[in-house]
Amino acid sequence: MTRISVHWFRKALRLHDNPALLAAMKDCAEVYPIFILDPWFPKNMRVSVNRWRFLVESLSDLDESLKKLSLRLFIVRGCPAEVFPRLFKEWKVTHLTFEVDTEPYARQRDAEVVRLAAEHGVQVIQKVSHTLYDTERIIIESNGRPPLTYTQFQRVLSTLGPPKKPVPAPTLENFKDCNTPVKDDHDMEYGIPSFEELGQDLEKAGPHLYRGGESEALARLDLHMKRTLWVCNFEKPATSPNSLTPSTTVLSPYVKFGCLSVRTFWWKLTEIYQGRKHSNPPVSLHGQLLWREFFYTAGAGIPNFSKMEGNPICVQVDWDENKEYLKAWSEGQTGYPFIDAIMMQLRTEGWIHHLARHAVACFLTRGDLWISWEEGQKVFEEFLLDADWSLNAGNWQWLSASAFFHQFFRVYSPVAFGKKTDKNGDYIKKYLPFLQKFPSDYIYEPWKAPRSIQERAGCIIGKDYPKPIVVHEVVRKRNLERMKAAYARRSQNVDAQPQDETSKEGK
Ligand SMILES: Cc1cc2nc3c(=O)[nH]c(=O)nc-3n(C[C@H](O)[C@H](O)[C@H](O)COP(=O)(O)OP(=O)(O)OC[C@H]3O[C@@H](n4cnc5c(N)ncnc54)[C@H](O)[C@@H]3O)c2cc1C
Repeated sequence: MTRISVHWFRKALRLHDNPALLAAMKDCAEVYPIFILDPWFPKNMRVSVNRWRFLVESLSDLDESLKKLSLRLFIVRGCPAEVFPRLFKEWKVTHLTFEVDTEPYARQRDAEVVRLAAEHGVQVIQKVSHTLYDTERIIIESNGRPPLTYTQFQRVLSTLGPPKKPVPAPTLENFKDCNTPVKDDHDMEYGIPSFEELGQDLEKAGPHLYRGGESEALARLDLHMKRTLWVCNFEKPATSPNSLTPSTTVLSPYVKFGCLSVRTFWWKLTEIYQGRKHSNPPVSLHGQLLWREFFYTAGAGIPNFSKMEGNPICVQVDWDENKEYLKAWSEGQTGYPFIDAIMMQLRTEGWIHHLARHAVACFLTRGDLWISWEEGQKVFEEFLLDADWSLNAGNWQWLSASAFFHQFFRVYSPVAFGKKTDKNGDYIKKYLPFLQKFPSDYIYEPWKAPRSIQERAGCIIGKDYPKPIVVHEVVRKRNLERMKAAYARRSQNVDAQPQDETSKEGK
């Protein structure tokens, strides 16, 4: 046995359902599990300290799990195109395995690595496991174009049958003839990075609510899947954006980093649904995973998916540039407590509910501030633990009525929407504690409280907390006209668009 494999972890930071890792171990004498700290990411993406912490924890957990298989994780520093030629020679590599990644940078990077591998006589094995299906296959089945409505998407998937079942995690038995040469100074050269090395100050991290890693992901999945009735009755639109503890699974950061396999999640749900009455897509938990697949397929097949310009499905809108409004929105200083509380939760905890994302995304774009969804996408990219290129871009386009969803006259009220599920404003009081003493009647609109009430509450509006930066009722009407004009320009430029089906689908 002379096969020497490198398995390259990127996403899929897990042992379960990792077909590329299993391929690395097949008939091999030596296997090197590596993760590359690629400087491209911090240079080109905004990453909050909370997400760095999640990544470091996920890598540590992976290293611990590999130790149980008598292996170690090698954290390699540098650009993949420079790292690989060195490793190929030093470790006499014969095989390189990794999971398929459909994001634009990943594709470019992987194409270059595949070319370098060929130059060095290294065989590359790539496996699909970040999505339920091979997105390329979906696009082929859909006549070469990603489906743009959920109904069309489901129609295409019905021709492909159910997703593949997850593969088992490797065991010691799989590794009996295989080892990793680990040197005594392994941690010096290949150890988990410190926060100092990453240029991060852990003191600035928020409360530690979601620990990174596969172990935590599987435990969290188990916990939710024990709630059989809750799983079977799950309907996304009925969950609350402003409950004090999350009303949905918060598995998204784990799925994003691949600490949890989406196929494992899918088949666990299938097992629970079996023989029981249950909700269905698009609102069920299966439905949520299909939304993910939907946006992944769109991201894989639509050019310039994270931009307005050059993106063929995106309505071209004359968004304003307004640094002052953008700053107020991103720092939770708009004067609308519901919006500001959500932004504070995002900045401190790194996760917010889907409908809370709806509220702040609508507010930033077509609802109130008329700022480009690309700006909102950047802020989410920085602060979300689950920040995911395809899902972030796809959902921002949806909420700004730039693509997928076209009922732009349906606008979220920054006052009434939150009240539906939290009349007392307990959520606002949690994230904006300086408003705690406002009576419920005024908590969503504190500027309307008489001066005496503001004084008693210890918070003067306009001094201790801003007045609303825009008057919702006024800007909403003006923005509707601007949106109508953008749609009119579009229909002059392109053939009439098909009737939007997704609007009925309750995302
Ligand atoms: C403007 C905006 C930006 C978003 N950006 C992201 C992002 O960067 N990363 C991200 O993971 N999600 C994003 N979402 C989608 C969604 O809000 C989150 O996936 C969801 O809130 C995560 O919470 P959960 O794990 O409790 O979801 P659950 O309701 O428990 O759903 C289970 C899983 O399904 C997937 N899922 C659920 N809703 C969606 C959706 N609408 N689109 C795609 N997948 C979904 C997630 O993987 C999630 O973990 C965004 C939504 C909006 C409106």
